[in-house]
Order: sequence, then structure tokens, then C-alpha cells
Amino acid sequence: MFSRFSKKSDASEKDYLRARMKMVAQQIMARGVTNPLVLEAMRQVPRHLFVPENSLNLAYKDGPLSIGYNQTISQPYIVASMTESIDPGPDKTVLEIGTGSGYQTAILSRLFKKVYTVEYVSELAEQARGILANFGYGNIEFYVGDGLEIPESPPEFDAIIVTAAPEKFPDSLVDRLNRGGKLIVPVGVDVQSLKLASKNMEGRLSIKDLYPVRFVPLKRGD
Ligand code: SAH
Repeated sequence: MFSRFSKKSDASEKDYLRARMKMVAQQIMARGVTNPLVLEAMRQVPRHLFVPENSLNLAYKDGPLSIGYNQTISQPYIVASMTESIDPGPDKTVLEIGTGSGYQTAILSRLFKKVYTVEYVSELAEQARGILANFGYGNIEFYVGDGLEIPESPPEFDAIIVTAAPEKFPDSLVDRLNRGGKLIVPVGVDVQSLKLASKNMEGRLSIKDLYPVRFVPLKRGD
């Protein structure tokens, strides 16, 4: 079913499944992620299909990995924790800025009704689209471009997740968030603060700093 299953590797699918179980228990649950649906998605999605062939043996390690074009696939814990923080739900829509490998996109697509994902580097977008096509997820819409300049349709999302770091809090995204919605974004230079913004039912925004993170910088039209 997955074209990349034909990759050369000594590990079997059973080994990978075992590695994922361990990853969820030791890296993710141990650090406090509790949402059972998020944990199940992390157990199900074959992360090794999203990493470059020469990093297959590192696919389930406790850290980010290079995916080329100076970009990275995020650490499993960060993917799980950010996903949990935006309150996924089967009736909700999510905007992801920074498709990258497509791994986070796959996790989101299992937990949201619809995923809109934007990637700046067209080669990465194409690669991710190719891998995700093999999963048969019909609820992902791909865009290439600057995620801060996405088209007006749909106008608003129930959740927004940004996986590249702007220097300043992206105020323009707040307008694209539904009431009751959550936006998670790493803000800053070099080491960033992971910020969780929540819009209440009256439309008021509150912002919480979660923990320090290291993401690649968000690119702006240059
Ligand atoms: N969630 C991804 C993270 C990839 S790293 C994963 O786990 O694989 C961040 C990604 O954001 C990179 O692929 C980078 O090219 C992309 N990016 C950077 N600036 C962007 C922008 N303005 N709009 C959309 N994507 C952007």
C-alpha cells in the first residue's frame, strides 16, 4: 500500500510498530501528553515513511531530523504536544503552516475533519503530497506559498498550527481563527517561546507561553 515500504531497510514493519509504541510511552506520555486520540494517532502514523532513506534507523529517535532544503521534521514529542494543545476534534478544521515532511499533516488529518496545509518550498510540498497520497487521506488540501498570506477561503479555522518560527507574534493569523479556536506558534529568533493563543467565545484573545523550542525560521517573501 505504501510505495516507500519498498525502501531498503533491515527493519520490518513489526520493528517499526514496536519502535512507535516505545516512542509514545517513553517520549510522549512520559512528558505529559494525555489525549488518547493524539496518542493513538502517534502510534498509527508510520513516521519512518516521512524521513529520508539515510535516516531510517533514526526515524523514532527523540529529536528532530533533517529532511533536506535546510528544513527538519519535528521531534515526535513536539508534534504530539502541539497537536494536543489545539484541541483536535472530528468536526473541526485546522490550518497548518509548514507542511515540511508531511508527518504532522498526517497526524492532523486523523484528528480533524479537514486539514489545510501550506508549504513555502514547493519541492517539499510535492514530496509530502506524494507520500500522503499513499495513505488515502481525502481531507488534506495543499498550498504552496507563504502561510501568512494564504487565500481568503476558507476565511476561518478552528485551529492553526505554525511549525516554522516568525520573529514576532503573527497577529494576522488571529483574524483567521474562529471563536473558541486555538493557535499555536513558536515565536522568536534562535530559541523561541512556544505560544498558545486561545480566542474565547466573545472573540477575546489570551496568550500563554508553553515552553522553549527550536524551529526553523518562518520564511517571508524574499
Ligand atoms: N511540521 C513539519 C515541520 C517542518 S519544518 C514536519 O514535522 O515535518 C518547517 C517547515 O515550514 C519547512 O518545511 C519550511 O519550508 C516551512 N516554511 C517556512 N516558512 C514558511 C512560510 N512562510 N509558509 C509556509 N511554510 C513555511
